[in-house]
Amino acid sequence: MSKLMTLYKILPGCEEGNPEAWKAFLENYTPTALEIFKVYSPWPPEACLDHWRDALHGLSVNEFAALRGFSHLSEREFLVGLRAFLLDRAATSLSPAQDAKVPPAPTTESLTALLAGLPIVHQEITFLTLAGYSQKAIENILRISPTVAEEGLERLRPSYAAVVERSENRCLWPSAWIAIGKAARADEKKDCTPLRQMVRVLDGQASWYEKSPSELHRSQCLHCLERWTSMLEVVSWERTCQPWPAEKVAPLLAVVPLKEEKRKPSLFARMLGR
Ligand SMILES: [Zn+2]
Repeated sequence: MSKLMTLYKILPGCEEGNPEAWKAFLENYTPTALEIFKVYSPWPPEACLDHWRDALHGLSVNEFAALRGFSHLSEREFLVGLRAFLLDRAATSLSPAQDAKVPPAPTTESLTALLAGLPIVHQEITFLTLAGYSQKAIENILRISPTVAEEGLERLRPSYAAVVERSENRCLWPSAWIAIGKAARADEKKDCTPLRQMVRVLDGQASWYEKSPSELHRSQCLHCLERWTSMLEVVSWERTCQPWPAEKVAPLLAVVPLKEEKRKPSLFARMLGR
């Protein structure tokens, strides 16, 4: 992704309605938003773009209140927040009737049972497979070998053979799966690992003493597994997404309330005290 302007400048600029900041926002984050909808919704590309337009409106209302709620310090934390915002929004347009019937959609309970006792990386593979990712995509997201991915799919095979064999990245049960993710996000407990610490673990900045209890906890906590895998997803999109083409930014820019940039008064005007 091109990073001519960084998040630290983009978000405050967007909140002021600055056109340049919004251009950078749309170039950088439109591909990620579309990727989210592509995996987690049944919508064709045009409809995904419509929902992104709608979400931009949602980010802008009430003086950009939603945008102000995201992390401004770390792009990964921001993207995890944006992802959750988009999925919560998508949920309101999805119906269980659109979900596949065979195999039946998992529930929080059946998912918890499926994950119980699995090594942590197998839990991540199971979770991301049910989310809609192909084995190939999971190898990239988790940076694991085909052999490890293959082993991680063992427990899914009996009930979810059709899911395991897919090559497309698309969730079979958008409505049910987004609801599971939403419930998991809401179920934060006292000993859950903050996202900031997860970023440190991922970047290799955390000591063994921080990392080990957090991994042990994650192996038994759906909230942390959801948060951790969503961070790995956004990191992999960061790696692979190309910036949204400049000529396609303009139609999206029209959705956002922009302020005219104030011209600085000239030196002459300032000398006259105007
Ligand atoms: Zn937790």
